[in-house]
Amino acid sequence: MNNETTNNEMDNTKMNNETMNNELMNETMERITRHSDGKLNDAQRATLATLKAGDIEKAYSGKARRCMCGCAGNYYYGAAGDDHENVNVAQVTRVLNVLKRNVDVVEQQDGYIAHAIIGNRSYVVYLKHAWLAGEAN
Ligand SMILES: [Zn+2]
Repeated sequence: MNNETTNNEMDNTKMNNETMNNELMNETMERITRHSDGKLNDAQRATLATLKAGDIEKAYSGKARRCMCGCAGNYYYGAAGDDHENVNVAQVTRVLNVLKRNVDVVEQQDGYIAHAIIGNRSYVVYLKHAWLAGEAN
């Protein structure tokens, strides 16, 4: 009886995690793979060059064209928050610098996401604030 209860609780926990992961994955995959708004325009390129870790909400580095729930890569945050613990400013800076070095293949979407596939990896930064007014394509 006790074991059964424990197992049920574990199953429920597992299911909740999978549901959350699927929601995150679906949202992210939709954004990243289907709704790119294209390459950066000149103003956005100039802005990207000036961005620092403090301008980034979170960064992602993972295998390209794979699930982005975190099973094939990692999300890094610039500051602690209620729903995440993986604060790593050095990694946020690293991902940002990868995008800066590869600006020609960086794409943007929804006014606050910049991403690129380089080699077999995806790199994404989620800006804290939208691209400056007038920079949207
Ligand atoms: Zn996954």
